[in-house]
Amino acid sequence: MNETKDPGTSRALWYTGAPLDRLSHRRADDGWMNNKLYDPQSRIVAVWRDKSLVHNEKEGAFLPTVGEAKELLDTGRFHSFLGVKEGIAYFGIDLSHHEDPYQAHPHIDNNGTFEDLRAVGPSLEQHEGSILAHARGLMFWHKRNGYCGVCGAETQPEKAGSQRRCTNMDCNTEHFPRTDPAVIMLVYKGDKCLLGRTRNFIPQMYSTLAGFVEPGESLEEAVAREVLEETAVIVDPAKVRYWASQPWPFPASLMLGFHAEADSEEIMVDEEELEDARWIHKSQLSHLEDFDMRLPRRDSIAYRLIVSWMNGEA
Ligand SMILES: [Zn+2]
Repeated sequence: MNETKDPGTSRALWYTGAPLDRLSHRRADDGWMNNKLYDPQSRIVAVWRDKSLVHNEKEGAFLPTVGEAKELLDTGRFHSFLGVKEGIAYFGIDLSHHEDPYQAHPHIDNNGTFEDLRAVGPSLEQHEGSILAHARGLMFWHKRNGYCGVCGAETQPEKAGSQRRCTNMDCNTEHFPRTDPAVIMLVYKGDKCLLGRTRNFIPQMYSTLAGFVEPGESLEEAVAREVLEETAVIVDPAKVRYWASQPWPFPASLMLGFHAEADSEEIMVDEEELEDARWIHKSQLSHLEDFDMRLPRRDSIAYRLIVSWMNGEA
């Protein structure tokens, strides 16, 4: 796997920068969509049990053309139109019902391997990572929404796999793909920032705090609540500043990144949530290894939030 390039402070986060035009006005155009689906040049973005298809001998996403693997369109459990790039359509296809996905088509068996996007994402070109993330998120949603949450009847995909509809005509509810908002925040006070670690982090890693937005709260309120709950540090929602966001389809989140100035310093760690939290001086951040600590991966929004604060962006 390639070393991930240092992204610096750019807000062009991993899994963003999608090159596809989603052409939502075409989703209900069955004639146009069928032409694209069976166009030999169209590309297939295969997903198997939340894993994405990459080349097995060179780095990069493996996106066979319909000409190379047309049979996948018939064996896929469901598919979704993702968009078009330079006239070429891309379709996400779910192969999760196959016990062995490599038997789904010899072209896959010979050229591809299914990998967890979280593991291989940073080694991919960013535009490929965003296409795989899009397909993975949508296939996960289809897989989890085969039945109507209102009446329990089966649902069927429609509009080129961009939504589902309940098959019970008395119910007829439309279901749309969900994205769960999660806040992630670099909390600072003066020249110090607040980093923490959970038990499932790799050893020595410290990162920004994060948590899911709950019903009935604003993003700023979610930031303040999570920081208070996890560390007892007080943040005024009025001092929370949005920075950038990152799609995080693992399985269905959108990470919303913030910088937040704290009103207090005393830390009391909620041990259910965190193993440790501490204030780190700006001057320590560039050589954290001297303190037996390390920063999160460079492709993460957490890393970018920290570096952007170091560079005076907050
Ligand atoms: Zn229903």
